[in-house]
Amino acid sequence: MDSFKILNDNRIYKITRDNFEKLTDKKHPYCQEIRKRMRYLAICPACGNPINFIGLYVKDQTDRKRIRALHGRHFTENVPQLADFDEYEYKDCPFHNDKAGKLYTDIPGQKKNNEIVRLIKTYPEELRECISKILGFHISQNKFEKLLTSFVSSKGYYFEGITKFNLPYYFLYLLPNQKLFKCKVLDNDIEQAIDRKCKYFEVSKEKRLEKKVNEYVEFEFILVEHIKKDESESINYKLIERKKEIRNLIFENRLEINHYLFVDMISGK
Ligand SMILES: [Zn+2]
Repeated sequence: MDSFKILNDNRIYKITRDNFEKLTDKKHPYCQEIRKRMRYLAICPACGNPINFIGLYVKDQTDRKRIRALHGRHFTENVPQLADFDEYEYKDCPFHNDKAGKLYTDIPGQKKNNEIVRLIKTYPEELRECISKILGFHISQNKFEKLLTSFVSSKGYYFEGITKFNLPYYFLYLLPNQKLFKCKVLDNDIEQAIDRKCKYFEVSKEKRLEKKVNEYVEFEFILVEHIKKDESESINYKLIERKKEIRNLIFENRLEINHYLFVDMISGK
């Protein structure tokens, strides 16, 4: 199918990466790791069952030799906090057995992607440093391991166009919404934005991101809306704080991709 719905909204949206990012902030329950794989989920506009996006970031998550066009397919099990699977509705759904999932075209070998895996394994510290620089937050080893697990489960290294030149940016772009807490703030503009706009967080004297209220609140980052034009590429970086349904955009910056950030760091090593 080529359209989807989200929670608490009756509108029907066309399945595009842009719509998915804008409507979900790449956040749970629309991004969930189920059986060690990152799933991008929404709701079937016809039957209300969960659907799974195929080819949203990585062309194919099941067979690496084949490529499938972006589409949605019913996800035939309950998805916590999104939708329960209803078999009766599913069998009755006009999108049931749609042919979209059967459109295959072959793509050539994936040698380059082994290169990406090799780079991550060989230079994890350099990658972590780049990521900290881009985000303006110190990313601890512990946090980095978690990001790495998430990147692997989204099969991000198969993302089309990922190279050693854009690796740290694409790495972040392919992650679902990530929470930050207590990490050190490295960037002055971000610190000022937190001071000025945050209702639930502050930067401590030690320059750490801290909660300033007692309720359950979240502070998160996402990179969305990747644009590539000739030689220049950019991705939109957002920081958001949340309390239940309240969402405050704290910081937004379109990052111009520096194609030498990572390669300069690993050159000569
Ligand atoms: Zn359906």
